[in-house]
Amino acid sequence: MQNFRTIKGTHDLLPNELIIWRAVENFIHNIMQQNGYGEIRTPAFENTELFVRGIGTDTDIVTKEMYSWTDQGGNTLTLKPELTAPVARAYLQHQMGNQNPIHRLYYIDALFRRERPQKGRQRQFHQFGAEAIGSPNPEQDAEIIALAYNIYKKFNIQDMSVRLNSIGNAEIRPLYLETLRSSIKKIEMELCTTCQTRIEKNALRLFDCKNPHCQELLDQYAPFIYDSISDDDRNHFEMLTRILKEMEIPYFHDKKLVRGLDYYSHTTFEITSSVLGAQDALCGGGRYNGLIEQLGGKSTPAVGFAAGVERLILAINKQNNLSIPPDIYFIHLGDEATVTASKIANDLRLNCGKIVVMETLRRSLKAQMREAGRCGANTTIILGEKELAESKIIVKDMSTGNQNEVPISELSKFISSNS
Ligand code: AMP
Repeated sequence: MQNFRTIKGTHDLLPNELIIWRAVENFIHNIMQQNGYGEIRTPAFENTELFVRGIGTDTDIVTKEMYSWTDQGGNTLTLKPELTAPVARAYLQHQMGNQNPIHRLYYIDALFRRERPQKGRQRQFHQFGAEAIGSPNPEQDAEIIALAYNIYKKFNIQDMSVRLNSIGNAEIRPLYLETLRSSIKKIEMELCTTCQTRIEKNALRLFDCKNPHCQELLDQYAPFIYDSISDDDRNHFEMLTRILKEMEIPYFHDKKLVRGLDYYSHTTFEITSSVLGAQDALCGGGRYNGLIEQLGGKSTPAVGFAAGVERLILAINKQNNLSIPPDIYFIHLGDEATVTASKIANDLRLNCGKIVVMETLRRSLKAQMREAGRCGANTTIILGEKELAESKIIVKDMSTGNQNEVPISELSKFISSNS
C-alpha cells in the first residue's frame, strides 16, 4: 500500500510546535491591533491575472513559482503566492477608499510558491504583514518599518539589520534602466546566466543576485537607481530616515536594495538577521504607489511589509529565547477538588484572560509541585480537600515563594490585581 506523505516543501504542524505558533500569532494580532491595524482575510485562490498584473510578468513568482490551474468552468486560478495584490483587490472591490481616506490592514495567512525547498524556504509557508493604504507621506513609511522592527525587537531577535533604500517613482525607471543596461554591456558575459537573462527582462533584479562575483561587477560598473531619483523623492527618503533616527531604529542605506516585485516605488526595506543562516530575510516591504491604479482603481499611495512566520519562529527557536510559560499552574488533589478546580481554571481563562495549565495526570503533590516549577508559571494555585472544605485556595507567587490563602469567591479579583 502507498504511504502517503506531505508534499515536498509543505509541513504538518504538530501540537508541540503549535504552542509557539499560537503564541507568536496571538502576539502579532495584539501588536497589530494596538497600532490601529484591522485584520483582513482573503481567499486562498484568486484569478491568475491579478497576480500577473499585480506582481509583474517578468518576476520569478509569476514566471516560475505560481501554482495555477484551469478549473472545470474554464477559469484560470492561482493559489496566492503573496498578499499585497489580494489586499489591494479587496480594497478596490469593497470600495474602501470611499469610506475612509486611510486604511490600515494586516494579515496572517498561508502562501504558496513553487520554490526550491530548503531550510527557511518552503512551498507552502506563512506570512504576517501590514498594508497602509492612503498616505503618501514618509511618516507612514516609518510607521510600517517601526511596526515590523518592533515585532522582532519584542521577540528579542539578535543581530538584526534594517536595510533601506529608495527606488524613486516609476517615471524615472525607463531612463535609469537604459543607463544601467548600457553601463554593464561590456561585462555582460562575465555575469552569471541568471543575471544575463535578467538584463533584458528585469534589469533592476540584477542587484538581488547572490553571486559575489556579480555583486563585485555591479559595484564597479552599475549606477544606483537612488542616484537618479527626483528631489521630491530624495526629500521623502531624508524625512523617513530622520524619523527612524528619532525612533532609534538603526538602519543602513543600501543603494543596492531594489526588491524583486514590480509594484514597488520609492521606499524599499528589508530586515535580516544572521541568526537565520543562508535564508536570512525576516521581512521585506516598501511603498507601492502604482499598484491600486494598475489593478483598475484610482491612483492611491500605499506602503506595507510582508514577513515570514516560519523564519521568525526559526529565529526564536535558534535563540531558544521564547518559552511561553503559563501564567498559572493549577495543582489539585482529590476528586471533589478536581471538579471545582476545573471550573475555576475555566473561569480564570475566560474572565481574567490568563493562560492556565491544569494538572490532569493526577500526580502526587510533590510531582505536581515539580511540574509547576519546571513549566515556569508565574503563579501556582493549589486546591486540596482541606482548602475546598474551607472554600479557600492557596495562591503561590513562584518568584518570591510567598503564599496567600484566598477565599475561592475572591480568586479572580486577587489574580487580576496581583499577577
Ligand atoms: P517576499 O514576499 O518574497 O517579499 O517575502 C517576504 C518574507 O516572507 C521573506 O522575508 C521571508 O521571511 C518570507 N518568505 C518568502 N518566501 C518564503 C518561502 N518560500 N518560505 C518561507 N518563507 C518565505
